[in-house]
Amino acid sequence: MVSIDIRTIILSFTFTGLVSTLVVFMLWMQYRKRYMGTIYLVLNFAMLTVSLLLVSLRGQIPDWISIIAANTFLIAGFILGHRGLENFTGKRSFQWHNIAVLILFTAFQIWFTIANPALEARNLSISVAGLLITSQTAWLMLRRVPAKSRNLTLTAGIVYILFSLVCAINIIYFITGEKEMPVDFFNAAPFDSFSIIMVNMLIIMLTYSLVLMYSKRLHQDVQAEEKKYDNVTREERNLLRTLIDNLADPVSLTDNEGRFLLNNRAHLSFIGVESQSETTGKTLGDFLPEEEAVKTAIEDQKVLQTGRLSLDMIESGTHYDTGFTYWHQTSRIPIPNSNGGPSRLITIRHDITERKRAEDFSRSNAEFNNVLLKTIPFGMDIIDEEGTVLFLSENYRRIFGQEAVGKKCWDLYRDDKLQCAGCPLLSGIREGKTEILEADGLMGGKTFNIYHTGMMYQGKKAMLEIFHDITIHKQVKDDLIMSKERAEESDRLKTAFLQNISHEIRTPMNGIVGFTSLLREPDLDSESFKAYLELITQSSDQLLAIVTDIIEIANIEAGKMNVNKTKTNINTVITNLYKQFQPVADLRGLELRHSVPATDEEPIYIVDNVRLTQILTNLIGNALKFTDKGSVTFGYFIKQGSLEFHVTDTGIGIDKDQQQKIFERFYQVDSGKTREHEGTGLGLSLSKGYIEFMGGNIWVTSEPGKGSTFFVSLPAETEESIQKV
Ligand code: ADP
Repeated sequence: MVSIDIRTIILSFTFTGLVSTLVVFMLWMQYRKRYMGTIYLVLNFAMLTVSLLLVSLRGQIPDWISIIAANTFLIAGFILGHRGLENFTGKRSFQWHNIAVLILFTAFQIWFTIANPALEARNLSISVAGLLITSQTAWLMLRRVPAKSRNLTLTAGIVYILFSLVCAINIIYFITGEKEMPVDFFNAAPFDSFSIIMVNMLIIMLTYSLVLMYSKRLHQDVQAEEKKYDNVTREERNLLRTLIDNLADPVSLTDNEGRFLLNNRAHLSFIGVESQSETTGKTLGDFLPEEEAVKTAIEDQKVLQTGRLSLDMIESGTHYDTGFTYWHQTSRIPIPNSNGGPSRLITIRHDITERKRAEDFSRSNAEFNNVLLKTIPFGMDIIDEEGTVLFLSENYRRIFGQEAVGKKCWDLYRDDKLQCAGCPLLSGIREGKTEILEADGLMGGKTFNIYHTGMMYQGKKAMLEIFHDITIHKQVKDDLIMSKERAEESDRLKTAFLQNISHEIRTPMNGIVGFTSLLREPDLDSESFKAYLELITQSSDQLLAIVTDIIEIANIEAGKMNVNKTKTNINTVITNLYKQFQPVADLRGLELRHSVPATDEEPIYIVDNVRLTQILTNLIGNALKFTDKGSVTFGYFIKQGSLEFHVTDTGIGIDKDQQQKIFERFYQVDSGKTREHEGTGLGLSLSKGYIEFMGGNIWVTSEPGKGSTFFVSLPAETEESIQKV
């Protein structure tokens, strides 16, 4: 029988164990973060190595260390290994039963080493404990692991089956075999030696299978991750592509020479094609007018060469189809090639044509509004619901100043500083509705048509007001109406005059004609002849007076009146008039009074005494004519450089509304009723004409039924005053 030097074998296997421990240690270093439980495998091999070392030192160290500790380490190592693999496979379980096995085993070793040393009993117990543990591990690696991981654990599982088999054969051999008991371990029987060698070879195989298992798992994991990454990348790429394809902005990818690599749908429609294939190998120059394509290519090259992206560059061009000008905000993003090849370029065009048009439109609108506001000859403002001015047109700003903004509109425009009575603000602003308000008393007595339109301004309800000055227009209109009324009145007066005049003329004419024919009577006595002649003379005088009045009126109208101013003693004029009218007053049973200012000096003034006498004669005559009882008083005062004459009666008086009209030509109060009083309706108008021609004034105060006073004021010119001038 060949004797094998067990100690040498064990020592050499100690080194093998050490190497295996190092290998597993390196596995742990490499995978400790990725896979759990590797440290248990390191401990497993370390304990195995220590165990082999202790065995190899048997005889050199106390037996209890060499035997008990070594064997306990061996079994504990297997338990730790089992634990480590459970962790690795993710199939962790309680290890109480294995700990119990370990305790029993240790107790057994102590007993058969110290109390009753028996090598075969110790060996048997090693095999039993080894079988119990390695079979569990083999079961774990071949059955308990998930099916998809079995290809990883298969080799290690087989090694553990072999471990179990060796243990089992040892047990069977112990039970069935007839053998000589070796004296000690190093003089073991060949079978024992063989099984030791087997175990050690299995340890080498285990080391290898573990390395294989870890690297396979890593490989599998990397593959799985790659696959996952691939899927994610593909999904992301699809997502990105869908996104880009559906972007409203045209996006294209071109190579460094501007050839299209990719276009989204918006870009295809921008260049006027339908499919990607139509763009293959083509550049923008194939689709756009040359000038634009060149401009774009220059910008593309700038970005490609500098490698710097360019954002939101405003570019314009002509639409290939419609010929309209479009505006783009273009961004160019260079994509460098990681392999050192030529870069590519992403171009994103954002269509801003609408925005540009809107901007241009609102700019030209604003310009138009400005020009309009400057040009229109009207004032304009915008007020809020409370009447506060929010905006003033330039012409009103010049008048009222910038500080007018913020004030109430009626404070600015109205003379009475009160809101207009019919102000549309009072009934509330209605958007888009225009109302016109005519307002008087604005900006110094002027009249305006104010056009109000409801609108929104600065986000709130407001009113646009346009001021149209109609003062002159209104005045012209009023004047026209007045002229028309005057013309109508004049027409009426003329008709009345003609009727009147025909009567006035006919009366003396009848007298003249009648009495002249009587003169022809052959047997007319001389007294009658005289009387008729007197009547004919009177009628002739009357007729002449009437005709003279008419001629005078015509002269005044034509401005051909003669004024003959001479030094006149006014008192004399008054006294003569008194003398002239005294008999008439007596005839009518009226009292006639006259008064002159009491002065020492003679009242000598430069006046046309003929006209003055005419005027006063007319006034006194009227006073006597229109007074039935009472008195007529006349005279004058000297007042602040004026001679003021007055003729007062206690007659029928004149209504307020007639007091102006009686000075108009041909006017007689209530023509029908006053027919009882003779007259032409020319006296007062003639007097007025004379007076005004002489630089004076005539007016009347009267109360119907009580009497009237006519006033005449003439400049009190003296010789000295005329010389001064
Ligand atoms: P007439 O020839 O009709 O008197 P006048 O021009 O002198 O014309 O007067 C115009 C009218 O004024 C008269 O017709 C009369 O109705 C009114 N009038 C003038 N003087 C008086 C007066 N003193 N009292 C009342 N009415 C007067």
